[in-house]
Amino acid sequence: AVTRDPEIQETRFRLPVVAEEQKIMEAIHNHDVVVICGATGSGKTTQVPQFLYEAGYGSPTGPTPGLIGVTQPRRVAAVSMSKRVGQEMGDHSHVVAYQIRFEGTVDPKTALKFMTDGVLLREAAQDIALRKYSAIIIDEAHERSVNTDILIAMLSRVVKLRADLAKEDHSVKPLKLIIMSATLRIEDLTQNPALFPVPPRVLEIEGREHSVTLHFARKTHHDYVEDAFRKISRGHKKLPPGGFLVFLTGQGEISALSKRLKSAFGSMTSVTGPKVRISANEAPVEVEDIDFGEVDDRNDDMDDEIEFASDDEAENAEFDIEDEESGTGPLKMHILPLYSLLPTKEQMRVFDPPPDGSRLVILATNVAETSLTIPGIRYVFDSGRAKERRYDPVSGVQSFEIGWISKASAKQRAGRAGRTGPGHCWRLYSSAIYERDFPEFAQPELLRMPIEGVVLQLKAMNLQHVVNFPFPTPPERSSLIKAEKLLTYLSALSPSGQVTQIGSTMSIFPLSPRFARILLVGHLHECLPYTIALVAGLSAGEVFIPENQAIPQQQFKAKITAHMRMSLPMTGGRRSGKLSIWCTRTFASLTISLTRSNCCRLSASLLMTLQSLVQALKQMVASGYIDQVAIRADKSPNPPEMYRTPKRAINVPYLPLVPLEGEQKLDSADRLVYIHPSSPLAHLSVDECPDYVVYSYLQKAGNQAVDSGKKPKTRMHALTDLT
Ligand code: ADP
Ligand code: MG
Repeated sequence: AVTRDPEIQETRFRLPVVAEEQKIMEAIHNHDVVVICGATGSGKTTQVPQFLYEAGYGSPTGPTPGLIGVTQPRRVAAVSMSKRVGQEMGDHSHVVAYQIRFEGTVDPKTALKFMTDGVLLREAAQDIALRKYSAIIIDEAHERSVNTDILIAMLSRVVKLRADLAKEDHSVKPLKLIIMSATLRIEDLTQNPALFPVPPRVLEIEGREHSVTLHFARKTHHDYVEDAFRKISRGHKKLPPGGFLVFLTGQGEISALSKRLKSAFGSMTSVTGPKVRISANEAPVEVEDIDFGEVDDRNDDMDDEIEFASDDEAENAEFDIEDEESGTGPLKMHILPLYSLLPTKEQMRVFDPPPDGSRLVILATNVAETSLTIPGIRYVFDSGRAKERRYDPVSGVQSFEIGWISKASAKQRAGRAGRTGPGHCWRLYSSAIYERDFPEFAQPELLRMPIEGVVLQLKAMNLQHVVNFPFPTPPERSSLIKAEKLLTYLSALSPSGQVTQIGSTMSIFPLSPRFARILLVGHLHECLPYTIALVAGLSAGEVFIPENQAIPQQQFKAKITAHMRMSLPMTGGRRSGKLSIWCTRTFASLTISLTRSNCCRLSASLLMTLQSLVQALKQMVASGYIDQVAIRADKSPNPPEMYRTPKRAINVPYLPLVPLEGEQKLDSADRLVYIHPSSPLAHLSVDECPDYVVYSYLQKAGNQAVDSGKKPKTRMHALTDLT
């Protein structure tokens, strides 16, 4: 039995989950799959693993030998939760450990293992039966991260496999799967016969958070960092002691706000946080940690919706909360950043008590949105925005854009103020905007990313029949088939659909497969640094930006100065355009993950002549878009007959080398494509038009062209010429 500290014991007894221990354990004994829904703070993460341990799971001599595994979507949650549970377990604290990608405390005594979902996925690739576990808890399932979705789908099969194995071999025990969620909105998991033919047992735990008072802004300010600065400053002067937790969207904003608060309120520590001094071990590699840097946040839609407000004196009244204590005068601020690119050790600093006489102010991204309990936080300031992975299925461009969070997320953020006592949340947006523009729930991440990356990941785990994979929210069957085809073009899969050596190397990179392929070719040519910059540029969707068409600087917010701008002369016809690449921190984070993968040498490339470098870069682009190369129709083996001599580059016909979908049967004349007028190539003379063009996507002409009586043309958004 576990002997706990009396104080801990008392806190535990107040948690709703503890009141339901018997019901929960009965359900787990009687069902292989159990879903536990309970509001944040009800005690799921800290208590359920302890119930399992005390019931004998995790004990090598017990009836169900094997580890208890608990997955978390984020590193800092895995580490901090294992520490908290260790503390709670008193004389048994040594059985609790964590494992994140490059760091862990697991030893032979470990019975309860907290880990990121990425770690468990990799273990499943080694042993699909996950024999070393007796029970696995998937936590924060409501977040619907890609890894969580894949894990749940995979584990649904592992549970069945283990049950079958147990029937034949009595030394093998069935696996218990427990899925935990902070919301009930998980029908995709609970009512999904493809995933769980027998519906899992669902337990609802009544939550008991402390009360959090919500304060909506009267007006929604476009510059929310400025707005946050004003409200934090005012709040700091007027509010009783208690920590602040501020939700922003990224590292840039956090550093900027941190500097301003420091000069205004003299922080007691170094404020800006470490200057991204990421050691190889600490560098992020979990997929969700890849932060593609600052985004162009001109969000035109958003501009229209927001009333631009002047600093409103009435807002001062916002901080006149009815409170026992009054403001306690000139406290200093103890400001700490919290975002996923920050080394885990730095992230963990938020759990240390702040120096006496100071107010803890944590500037965070949505890393802090779920799972974490940061002691002493009483006040939350929520910008209502987050940087989200987006994906344009047409252009294939993946981006991270700032947008409104969901209502469910806003609720989670506010809930952070009520973890250890009653609190307040100031929302930096009006209730009107919230009601009208915030979606109820976020879309599963899997539907917001290129599916070929997911397919490659599954194939690399030796899962053959991806079309039959029981995704909680399945992508279109046809897009899965298309993805397999593309992966075959990229040499990531063999013709029979098996992952190749190239494919398994590609799957290591936290990049879409096209870009991973380009990097591999770059490595072959020993010019990896340029290739990384190239990929960074491609992932922003803009590679070739001729000088006169460069995006006007003023369109970039002043704060986005972190952009590294690299210009290489480009040989493309007589006109020497400019290859301008904006590479953001992608450059840094990719360099780190790659250097760590030991697959590059960074110096040899510097000796290459620029000329051959540019040639090589173009070849690399082609290697990633091998299925999207078009040949000048008059240079093709069978030039089409109906061929008038064009006078302008945009009328020079090209033929895609790989026939477009459904067009195999068409006459070649109907398959012709043309250079898009926005392309730098459009300015070439007809003679200068290259033999081959690599394009990122095709655009079919709209009705306008039809109305004007001309035959609509399909146009290429060109990436590069090839010679
Ligand atoms: P859930 O997973 O349901 O959101 P948790 O198990 O994480 O809930 O936390 C339950 C409660 O345990 C919290 O509301 C808080 O009171 C307490 N708690 C958790 N972690 C800590 C911590 N690091 N320090 C102090 N109290 C904590
Ligand atoms: Mg939790």
